[in-house]
Amino acid sequence: MIKLKNSVENLEAYFVNDIPCRVKLDANEGSNYLLNEGLCFDDLKANLYPDSDSVELREKLSLYYNCKSENILMGNGSSELINMVINAYCEKGEKVLSFIPSFSMYQTYCDLCGATYIGVNTNEDFTQDIDKLIEKVNELNPKIVILCNPNNPTGYITPRNDVIKLLDSVKNSLIIVDEAYADFFENSVVDLINSYENLIVMRTLSKAFGLAGLRVGSLIANENLVKYVWKVKVPYNLNILSQYGALKALNSIELVKSYIQNIKDLRLKLSQDLRNLNFTVYESGANFIFTKSPVDNLFEKLMSCGVLIRKFNFNGKVYNRITIGTKEENEILLEEIKNIIEG
Ligand code: PMP
Repeated sequence: MIKLKNSVENLEAYFVNDIPCRVKLDANEGSNYLLNEGLCFDDLKANLYPDSDSVELREKLSLYYNCKSENILMGNGSSELINMVINAYCEKGEKVLSFIPSFSMYQTYCDLCGATYIGVNTNEDFTQDIDKLIEKVNELNPKIVILCNPNNPTGYITPRNDVIKLLDSVKNSLIIVDEAYADFFENSVVDLINSYENLIVMRTLSKAFGLAGLRVGSLIANENLVKYVWKVKVPYNLNILSQYGALKALNSIELVKSYIQNIKDLRLKLSQDLRNLNFTVYESGANFIFTKSPVDNLFEKLMSCGVLIRKFNFNGKVYNRITIGTKEENEILLEEIKNIIEG
């Protein structure tokens, strides 16, 4: 066997929980609503390479994100872009800082390229102390700081003033604001990309657009930064179907907006219903809620009746992240939880 790079050898492969289930509320995907509303793929020239620069799609996305197309670099999901940026900027041993808990893949991408990932603990209630993060930045001088807003898995919304405080305080590190869930909470800092030369915003169509399967992510930054990261972009990284589907979906913004409103309404209702069943439910700005269950082993018990959620262990305690499903899916979830509680 040829030996892998040291930084790769010790990596754990990302485990995708592909368990067959009745109700899938584990991965924060959106519903299939645009395809149900007639989004279809005709006219595809799959024999040809796709537009390597996704020119038309970036043009269209720039209207949605309210920036110029030169401010956007497309990725095969925002996952590819986060990996690309960490890889492009971090020499071996250089530090990447983020709050923990946050999106677990940040650490993996760091491990992959030999960067050192350092987590800054959130408060006990999973709120974030931005001053503590800034203090750590001053102490450790990281190459990159990643702020996930709203945060996965806790749903915490970093107030805009805190993001601005971070940007005003940190000039020698790249700041990635991962806004995978920002469509569900209008708190984006895309409008600040030209005010801060070290700001990168990550967006995706995987959540609010319900197009996780198409793998369409955007890096949004000032033009110089975009040109910089473009150097490490693989040619044709966004396939023809992804570009085509994303372009079509962007013609349905009104549907997307009403889907977002619907998810917010369902999030409020599910949060209240779970609180009535003695769950702790943390405030969330995303399409999921982070909860502490009054019963042990909720994840395992729900899985045995075909309902899939996510389980997390923090500080010796078990928490569950539940994606907001359709009204019907949430009703099944609640019914099964009630059955479990009643024993
Ligand atoms: N960032 C966060 C915070 C996420 O939760 C996810 C997906 N779970 C991603 C990025 C990656 O999303 P995608 O690659 O589908 O765009």
